[in-house]
Parts: sequence; C-alpha cells; structure tokens
Amino acid sequence: MELRFLGGAGEVGRSAILVNETICLDFGMAAETPPRYPVGDISPEAVIVSHGHLDHVGALPTLMSGSDRPEIHWTPPTRELAHVLARDTLKLHGHTPSCPFTSTDVGRMRPQSHVHGYDEPFTVADHEITLFNAGHIPGSAHVLVDDGETRLFYTGDFHTDEQRLVSPSTARPDADVLLCETTYADVEHRPRKEVEREFIEFVRTRTYDGGTVVVPVFAIGRTQELELVCAANDINCYVDGMGVHVANLLSDYPSFLRDPAAFNRATSNARVVTGTDGTRRQIADGNETILTTAGMLTGGPAMTYLPAVHDDPTNAIAFTGYQVDGTPGRQLIDTGRIALNERVLPVSARVDRFDFSAHVDRPGLKRFLDDYRDATVLLNHGDDPAAFASALSTDGFNASAPELNETIVV
Ligand SMILES: [Zn+2]
Repeated sequence: MELRFLGGAGEVGRSAILVNETICLDFGMAAETPPRYPVGDISPEAVIVSHGHLDHVGALPTLMSGSDRPEIHWTPPTRELAHVLARDTLKLHGHTPSCPFTSTDVGRMRPQSHVHGYDEPFTVADHEITLFNAGHIPGSAHVLVDDGETRLFYTGDFHTDEQRLVSPSTARPDADVLLCETTYADVEHRPRKEVEREFIEFVRTRTYDGGTVVVPVFAIGRTQELELVCAANDINCYVDGMGVHVANLLSDYPSFLRDPAAFNRATSNARVVTGTDGTRRQIADGNETILTTAGMLTGGPAMTYLPAVHDDPTNAIAFTGYQVDGTPGRQLIDTGRIALNERVLPVSARVDRFDFSAHVDRPGLKRFLDDYRDATVLLNHGDDPAAFASALSTDGFNASAPELNETIVV
C-alpha cells in the first residue's frame, strides 16, 4: 500500500492522505488568512471523509471542478456538515481569489455522495472500506481501508472518553498500519465531570453576582455539547451563531447522537437569538449566559456581545476550546486585551477557560496504541508528531511521523 501525505503531516489543518493513488482520506483546509489547502494535483477515484470539520473536509469542493469527479463516501451527518462548511467558506472567501471553489462545485458534491453507517463494509475502487464511530462529533468516523494485502486504520479525530453529545470510540479492528492523530499528544485532560462542575460553578457564581457570561463555542460539536451541559444543570442559556443551524441539522440523525432525547431537550431549552445586534446588546446587559460562535473570537455574533460585556468585572468570558496562536481569543488569554472596533482594549470582565476537548489526550492515546503494538504506527495531525513518534519508538513501537508530501510504502 502506498500512502502520500498531502496535508496534516506535522501540522493541524488541511488533512489529506492519498492511498494507492486512487482513494483520498479527507480533504481539508487550514482556516488561516489566506487559507491553506492540500498540496499536489490529484485526481482520485473516491474520497472518504472522516468527519465534518473544516480541517478534514473544507477543500473537498475543489475536487469537483473537473469532469472526472470522485465519488464521496461519508456518514449522513458528515455530508450535511460538509455542505454547511462549504457554504460558509463561500460566504467568507467566495468573492476573493483565495477561494479555490465556486457554488457550482459545491452543488456537484451531492450527486457524488454515498452515505454509510458505522460497521458496514463497502467496496470502493477495489478497496474494502469500513467506518467506525470515532467519538469526536456526530458522524465522525475511523476509516479502515483494506486493499487485499494491507489493512490501514486511519483514526481521523477521535475521543475515547465520555461526552454528552456522542458515545466514545471503542472499535479496535485488526490493522497492519495505524495512522493516528496526535492533536493532544502532549496534554492530559482533567476528567470531564470535573471540568463540567467547574464550568457550571463559574457560570452560576458570575450570574448570581449579576454578571453576564459569554461562552465562545465552535459551531460544530462544541455548541451542542455546551447546550447539553447547560440543560443537564438547569442553566438557562441563549445560543447564537452557526451552531444553531448545526443543531437543527443534527437532530435529523438521532442514531449518531448519544442521547437523542437529551439532545432535543437541550436544544429546545436553549433560547435562540434571532434579533438584531441591538437585541444582542440588550441580552448582554441582562445577566445572562450566552453560547455563541466564533469559538476563538475570530468573528460571528460573539463580537457583538464582547463590546457590551468587556469593561465590567462582574461579567465573564468562558472559553471552551483550544485557542490557536494569533487568534483574538488567544490574544485575550495571553494579554488581557482584545481588538474591538479597531482599538485594542483592556478587558476587565473575568476570563477563564475550560477544557471541553473532543480529542483523545496522551494517556488515552497510549491506551489506544497498546492495541496496535504489532502495527506500523504513523502519526499525523499534531504540532509535533515526530516527538511523540520518538517517545513511542523508545517504548518499542515501530512509529514514525511522515512529512508533508512524503510518499510511504507500507
Ligand atoms: Zn475534528
């Protein structure tokens, strides 16, 4: 089996791996300015998409422009999330030269689409493929690829611990080669129950004191997880931004949710903000809890709430995810200041962060890898997979971290 790493090698973003020149696993984009896309000019017969996050599927419409379009294989929620992301990219970049696809390309995805459930093998270009629940977001999948000689198990993004939104990953199929994500290979998460308890305590204290808590959340997965956390703890919250649309769409696929009844309760418990920016400023003044995109404050309705809450120490901003270097969220955490209306202002509202990560951490990775001691282990999707590869090699693994555009025969 031949593997070529077109993106996501030694980095997070634009994941894309070409298998035997015929099947591409994921085709993501890195949301930077300008965005970055997979390298190489490929024409695969099929693309298998692990899940509906931008860094795994964001560049897929670029493969739809020619006449020889690949089949697309994914779960139903991933198909829908990919369309949401593609339309959002068109909205943000569609009028600029940095957007490499058009609305016509996006419209061509659905006719190429084939949906699959978990644990149901299917054949693509003489390869047998099976998707397994990856426990990351609804519809997220591990991908097993068998070319008749070699079995490759591609983890995609995954989580082995309990979340409220999705069940954890448990499938451990036999494989000769494991290609594993390493986003949190350097991190040990605190137990989710503790994180949740602290988050609830934080929100209750701030709102009891008369403050408003703005909770920046990613649209896909995190918004709905936090809606579930709020509902389970009787926190009356507002929800705003793209996460509202995503929740509606996910409710059509209950079999990909851990507890569909709890999901429906949580999404109807959350009050959806539909008004203007004036309505948003009123809500911000009203001693409320607001879940809002963007998760790293890179835009979205969060940037209407922030000017209204930033200068009062009874208010708070509660981050729920990783803040990438160079984002406004990271700037706020590091400096206590934020750029609002083109001025950099000090923030006197209380700022805290809570690790609601949907990725496996270092101890979880090690437990997972223990089932693959006899496999060739390839590591990607992390800031420094090479360091983790050498730690694993010391521990007796045959582990390495491929580089961008490297071709490996396994
Ligand atoms: Zn992901």
